[in-house]
Order: sequence, then structure tokens, then C-alpha cells
Amino acid sequence: MTITVKNPIVDMDGDEMTRIMWKMIKEQLLLPHLAMDLKYFDLGIRHRDETHDQVTVDAANAVKEYGVGVKCATITPNAARVKEYGLKQQWKSPNGTIRSILDGTVFRKPVIVKNIPPAVRSWKKPISIGRHAYGDIYKSVEYKVPAAGTAELAFFPAGGGEKISLLVHEFKGPGVIMGMHNTEKSIRSFARACINYAVGETSDLWFGAKDTISKTYHAFFKEVFDQEASTRTTDFKKKGIRYRYMLIDDAVAQIMKAEGGMLWACMNYDGDVMSDMVASGFGSLGLMTSVLVSPEGEFVYEAAHGTVMRHYYEHLKGNPTSTNSVASIFAWTGAIARRGEIDGTPAVVEFARRLESIVIKTIEDGIMTKDLAAIAEPKPTNYAGTEEFIDRVAASL
Ligand code: NAP
Ligand code: MG
Repeated sequence: MTITVKNPIVDMDGDEMTRIMWKMIKEQLLLPHLAMDLKYFDLGIRHRDETHDQVTVDAANAVKEYGVGVKCATITPNAARVKEYGLKQQWKSPNGTIRSILDGTVFRKPVIVKNIPPAVRSWKKPISIGRHAYGDIYKSVEYKVPAAGTAELAFFPAGGGEKISLLVHEFKGPGVIMGMHNTEKSIRSFARACINYAVGETSDLWFGAKDTISKTYHAFFKEVFDQEASTRTTDFKKKGIRYRYMLIDDAVAQIMKAEGGMLWACMNYDGDVMSDMVASGFGSLGLMTSVLVSPEGEFVYEAAHGTVMRHYYEHLKGNPTSTNSVASIFAWTGAIARRGEIDGTPAVVEFARRLESIVIKTIEDGIMTKDLAAIAEPKPTNYAGTEEFIDRVAASL
């Protein structure tokens, strides 16, 4: 029996090994069971080059129109790729382009499987991390102070008027100095995207900063989060979730003792560091999904890894591969479930959840790709090839 998906999903194809898996996932796991209207955009490097990257912009605009998208990993060209594919230019990262059009925040979430134990014993449920991807030290100016002198922090209002100036430090000798900033607009967008994600995923929202020390800068982030969260209290209640502000060091300590299941919203630097810690704590890149959420509540799901180039080259040589398709499958189930939730079609949500549990059960039954076989407990005697894993999941569906 096929299930009808009421509204379209934006399908963004990609490159290399993930492009191969993308096709298999659609043909074997999805299209036999779902009647879907996929708005297809080929973000493969050749087509981006042919369209002068217009296809990426069109895809992002389609997500604005339909609200839900799913994206395959894509090549971000460097000089070597320009040569390899004979590109007209070094096109920008498609993820960057889509993110800036949607003004979105990226959240990472691991897939939890019983026989791939996380490094932290207490972690039983996924911990999602949202990183504010604008400003702070990533858009700062800095220089070495050569010798003794006075450093000031000055602001000149655009319409004229009094300048604001603060003494940073009276240097008695050489040192270093940095000026950093953020904008209310960006912080607010980030807070809204975090709240949309937490409500969408039914998970508690944690936000940590150091407002005891940074009584203006960090405190401003806290204020904005508090304000935005207070406008959504009914949604929080309806979902039975809560918003917690914590000092960042307290949040770090609590995370190590927690079961998981929360969204941890992080300032830019904290997110950079903590997302790598949490990701490696959960095991494999092949189990890490990611979703871009806009302040308006548009969602683009994808795997957190790249196009797995090394495996693709083996595949081109005709050698067997064992590439993990789990994060790509979960990108699809994330998008399908979100579509079903927005459309109010529980059968669609159920299909996505069923596919997810079959994938997890398959791994728990000892059928997994090489990357997982290396870290599974107990270790399986064999590992599955790229095609075999998807075949096994398809058979169980
Ligand atoms: P990658 O695709 O993430 O792969 C790096 C290595 O991680 C692989 O060689 C493999 O290790 C392991 N790995 C990653 N995903 C795996 C999976 N699903 N199953 C099994 N092993 C997996 O990074 P890359 O090779 O450095 O980058 C390739 C291309 O991806 C680049 O052109 C980059 O621009 C692009 N990229 C795109 C995105 C995106 O679209 N979101 C993100 C990152 C990178 P072993 O070789 O040891 O098996
Ligand atoms: Mg990092």
C-alpha cells in the first residue's frame, strides 16, 4: 500500500558516493511506499557549474515556498576540484548559500544504536547541538599591541551624535587585542531557529553562556533567548518541553551526566568546540544527521558528512565499497516526518519512524557497514557493502 504525502518535499541531489546512495535510498526505500511530489534540484557539481550555481539559489527558494527540503552532500569546490571537473569557477559552498538565503541555523543530531555505545555512559538519547554561526571571534578584528599605550573601544553613531568610548586597557608593554561583535538580528534569528527546532523535535532547550562575567555581551544573548522563549510558552507546554538557561560551565558539567534528548544551543565558539566533542562522543560520522532550521520554521535535512570521496574513487575503479547510508536515510526520514507533521498526516510520520526503527534494528542485528563494524560491541564477524546494507533494510520494509 502506498502512502500519500500531501505536500511537496524539495529534493536536492548531490555528489560522489552520497549521490549514488541517494538514488538507492529513493528507489528502494521510499518511492515503492510513498506517493510523493518531489521538487527535484540537481546540486551535483556539474549542474551547478552549468547553471552558474543558479540551481542552488532556486533550491533554497523552493524550500522557502514548500517549507521542507532534504539535501544530499555536495562538493564544495577547491582548486583541485575546479581542475578535476573543469569548472568555470570555484563555486561557493551550497550549504553556505542555502543557509544565508534561509537565514538558518544548523543543528546536528546523532542516531543512537544500542550496539554502538557512546563514549559517555549516561548518554541514552541523542544530544542535538545548535551552533550560532555568526560573529564573536569568527568575525573579529585583532592585532598585536607593539608597546605601551592606551587601547579604547569606540563606536560612532551613523547619524552623527556622540561617540561612545570605553577604555580597554592601559598597556604597560606589548600584548594582544581583539574587537568582536554580534547583532541583535542574528542572535534573535538564532534563538527563533533553536525554539523552532526544540518544538519541532519535542526536546528541551538548553542555552548556556557566561553572563556572570560578560554582563553585557553574553547577558544580551540570554536576554534575547529569554524574550523569544517567553513568546512560545504555549508551544512549550503543548509539547511538554522546557527552556533552561544555564551558565556555560554548568551546562558542560550537566551534559556529561545527562541522558540526552535535549537541544543544546551554543554561542559560536562553544558550538564549534562542543559539536565536535558531542559528535565524536557518539561514534561515527555516518550516524550524524544535520538539519538547517530557519527563523520562519523551514527545515532542510541532510547527513553531516561529506560526499565520501575516497569511497567514490574506489567505486569508480570497480572495487566494492562499504559506505554508511544511515545519516542520508535519516535525512530523508527527518524531512518526511516533518512534512507529515506539518501536513497533519500521521501515516506519513509513522512511515518515517518505521523506516528509522528498521535501520536501527538492522544494525542491532549485526548488519552494518565497515565504519560501524569497527566500533560496534559486540563486533560483527562481517560487514555489509554499501548496496547490501540498503538491500537488507529494503527487504525488512
Ligand atoms: P567526508 O565525505 O565527510 O569523508 C571523510 C572520511 O570520513 C571518509 O573518507 C570516510 O573515512 C569517513 N566517512 C564519512 N562519511 C562516511 C560514511 N557515510 N560512511 C563511511 N565512512 C564515512 O569528507 P571529505 O572526503 O573530506 O570530503 C569530500 C567532499 O565532501 C568534499 O568535496 C567536501 O567539499 C564535501 N563536503 C560536503 C559537505 C556537505 O555537503 N554538507 C560536508 C562536508 C564535506 P575512510 O576513508 O577512513 O573510510
Ligand atoms: Mg569544530
